Amino acid sequence: MLLTEEINEKAHYDVIVAGGGVAGAAAAISAARAGKSVLLIEKAQKLGGLATLGLINYFVPMCNGRGKQIIFGMAEEFLRTALKYGYGSIHPDFVNGAISPEKLAGYAARGEKPPRYQTKFPAEIFALQLTELCVAEGVDLTFDSLLSRPVAEETGGQTKLLGVVIENKSGREYYTADMFVDATGDCDLVYRAGIPTAERGNFHTYIGSKITLDSCRKAVETGDIKNALTGICGGGASLYGGGHPKDIPLYYGCSSDDVNRYLISNQLEMLKKLKKDDRLSRDVVTLPGMCQFRTTRRIEGDYVLKESDVYRHFDDSVGAINDFDRRDFLYEIPYRTLVNRKASNLITCGRTAAGDGYAWDVLRVIPPAIITGQAAGLACAQALDESRAVADIDVPKLQRTLEAQNVLIHFDDADIPEKSDDTIEHND
Ligand SMILES: Cc1cc2nc3c(=O)[nH]c(=O)nc-3n(C[C@H](O)[C@H](O)[C@H](O)COP(=O)(O)OP(=O)(O)OC[C@H]3O[C@@H](n4cnc5c(N)ncnc54)[C@H](O)[C@@H]3O)c2cc1C
Repeated sequence: MLLTEEINEKAHYDVIVAGGGVAGAAAAISAARAGKSVLLIEKAQKLGGLATLGLINYFVPMCNGRGKQIIFGMAEEFLRTALKYGYGSIHPDFVNGAISPEKLAGYAARGEKPPRYQTKFPAEIFALQLTELCVAEGVDLTFDSLLSRPVAEETGGQTKLLGVVIENKSGREYYTADMFVDATGDCDLVYRAGIPTAERGNFHTYIGSKITLDSCRKAVETGDIKNALTGICGGGASLYGGGHPKDIPLYYGCSSDDVNRYLISNQLEMLKKLKKDDRLSRDVVTLPGMCQFRTTRRIEGDYVLKESDVYRHFDDSVGAINDFDRRDFLYEIPYRTLVNRKASNLITCGRTAAGDGYAWDVLRVIPPAIITGQAAGLACAQALDESRAVADIDVPKLQRTLEAQNVLIHFDDADIPEKSDDTIEHND
C-alpha cells in the first residue's frame, strides 16, 4: 500500500476521519474538542449520512422503556441540536432523562407501557447544523471527496496508516495524519488497509419522501409541518426482512454491481408506483441520497458483541446502550469492538463497530453510532498523547473522559428485570 504515483501531500493532520455520517461527525468533533487538528472527508455534499442523506431522520429510543434514559453523551447533544430549529420533540413526561415514579405508576395502573425517549427530526436542517458544529469546533471539512485508498506501511506484523488518497473536483489529493477513523459506514478504509472485516446482506428497502394534497391538508389542520411529508417506497422490506421479494438476492452493498442493482431496481419500482397516481395530487420531495443499507461491512474487532451479551458488563465499556426495539434489554459497548490490533493507528465507529447478528443492529442505530463516534475521536486524541497504538490506550482514562462528557459507561444492575416479556416493536 505504498504511494506509487507522484502526488504532493496537501496537508498533515493529527486525526483524519473518513465519512461524515453521525458517527464521523461525532468523532471529528470530539477529537477537535480534545485539542487535535482534524480533517473530515465526506463524499457527499452534506453531513449526516443515513440520518440526513439517507432520510433516516429518527432517533430510536434512548431509554430502557421503563422511563429511564440510558444513552446520553453526544447522542443527547445531537438530538437536542436536531430539535432546536425544527419539528420533533421528546415526550413531556421525561424530565432530566426520567419519568417520575408517580407517572410510571399511572401508566401501570392503566395497563399501558410508558412512552419512550425517541423523536423524529428535520433531516436537512440537522445536516446544516452538523456543518455549523464542525466549523465552530475547528474541524476542516472536505466535501464531495471520495476516499479511494490508504497509504500504509507494515511493521512487526502491524499496519500503520500514513495517509489517504482522495478524489474530488481538484483531481487526486493526498493527506497524511497520525490517527485515522473509519466512519464510512462500509468500513472502506479498514478493508482497503487489509484489516479483517465481515459482511452482511440487506433487504429490498428504498424509501423516499413525498408530499400529497392530503398530507398538506393534514399539516395545515394540525399546524405541524412534519405531517406534510410522507414516505414513498421502491422496495418496502422491513428491518426483519418482511416484504423482501423471494426472487431478489440480498444486497451486500460492497461492490459497484450490487449498488447499481439496488438503485436501478428500486428506482424503477418506485416509478411504476408513481405512474398509477394522479399526477397533480402528489410530488416526490426527495429520493434517498445514499443506499439504505443497514449493514454492509464491519470491522472484525478484537471483540465482537453478541446478542447473548445482553446485561453483561465489560471492563472496557465505552457506553451503555439499550435495545431500540425491546424494552429492558441493555448492553455495553466494549472498546474492543472498535479496534483490531493488527492496525496501530486506525479505529472505526458507527455502523461498522463489531457486532454479530442482532447485536450488530443494536450497535448500528443512530444513538449508539454517535456514542462510538465520540469514543473513537477521544481515543485517537488519547493515543496521540500517550504515544501508543490505538488498541493499547489507557481505557479507564478514556472511560473517565467519556463519563465527564455525560456518557453512561455501565448500566445499573437494578434495571435488569427478572424476566422481560417485551417483544420486537419495529422501531428502526
Ligand atoms: C432503512 C433503514 C432504516 C433505519 N432506521 C433507523 C431509525 O429509525 N433510527 C435509527 O436510529 N437508525 C436507523 N437506521 C440506522 C442508522 O440510520 C444508521 O445505522 C446510522 O445513521 C449510521 O451512521 P454512520 O455514521 O455509522 O454511517 P453512515 O450514516 O452510513 O455515514 C457514512 C458516511 O460516510 C460517507 N462515505 C462512505 N464511503 C465514503 C468514502 N469512500 N469516502 C468518503 N465518504 C464516504 C457517506 O457518504 C456517509 O455520509 C436505519 C438504517 C436504514 C438503512
